[in-house]
Amino acid sequence: MKRAIRSAEVLCQRLELPAEFNRRVAEAAPGNPFPVFVPLEFLSRMRPGDCRDPLLRQVLPLPEEGDTAAGFSTDPVGELQGSPAASLSVGLLRKYHGRALLVASGACGVHCRYCFRRHFPYDTVPHGDAAWDQPLAMLSDDPTLDEVILSGGDPLVLTDPALENLIRRVAEVPHVRRLRIHSRLPIVIPQRITERLLDLLRGTRLSTWMVVHANHPTELDAATLAALGRLVDRGIPVLNQAVLLRGVNDQLAALEQLCRTLVDHRVQPYYLHQLDRVAGAAHYEVPVARGRQLVAELRTRLPGYAVPTYVVEQAGEPSKTPL
Ligand SMILES: *Cc1c(COP(=O)(O)O)cnc(C)c1O
Ligand code: SF4
Repeated sequence: MKRAIRSAEVLCQRLELPAEFNRRVAEAAPGNPFPVFVPLEFLSRMRPGDCRDPLLRQVLPLPEEGDTAAGFSTDPVGELQGSPAASLSVGLLRKYHGRALLVASGACGVHCRYCFRRHFPYDTVPHGDAAWDQPLAMLSDDPTLDEVILSGGDPLVLTDPALENLIRRVAEVPHVRRLRIHSRLPIVIPQRITERLLDLLRGTRLSTWMVVHANHPTELDAATLAALGRLVDRGIPVLNQAVLLRGVNDQLAALEQLCRTLVDHRVQPYYLHQLDRVAGAAHYEVPVARGRQLVAELRTRLPGYAVPTYVVEQAGEPSKTPL
């Protein structure tokens, strides 16, 4: 992460993009509150000279981020306001029956421009061992919760000792049976999946599931597929969630290849998310009718278990809403 690229200008230079394109990008840079962050391992999968590269599209701020669009807000899924159970401020989100989402870290291994949490005040999220006291007390007090989702940010940004400590504390809550880790690090920096991490994930009484996030088949290079294989070999089921993104994966060939490569490597496509309507991301939106058509076509071409469920997040609903 220390070596990651942190400016749009450097990103464009490294990819040798056309000067005219670089000028447009430079105009978008000043004052953008969500900085560029691209690890070199992810950069290496982009095609030099191609300003339409589907991986570049996910991480490069374009002038369109400044556009305002009706229906797009800084808190599209209602986590900043609303009931305490659905609010981020305590570090534990209890939106759905049986599972609670714990904000394990404010940092990520990559900054995705379409992220619904791009406006979150993560620097106000407490960190360190004492920061878990309140969310874990809430967890202990609610025996209906049998699953804890470590999310963020990205929980695998934590050091191994910090992660081990957190998992140990979760496992001390008797009614919790499953641990789910939502992370994009196995995709963007697959070297994070070390033997030590695998030992740590297997060293808990909790059943551990991993949910990764890849949107396009070229994200799945040899090192990434090997990392996913290491998880599955160690008995950790791996699921993938993708976001349907204009100019990235809104073509049948890309989605089909993504799903096929995942199941070839024993990873199950879980959700295909309709974009959350977060301010600055309107240029990524794909109409729901197009998404439905794409998923229907996938269903005619792939085994049933390889077709993700197309869903949208709606504030106040008891689950993700199938489309
Ligand atoms: C998406 C989400 C979950 C997990 O939902 P599943 O349908 O079980 O994957 C849990 N908590 C919150 C706050 C979520 O946004
Ligand atoms: S890794 Fe996930 S949480 Fe982090 S910026 Fe990307 S989509 Fe958002």
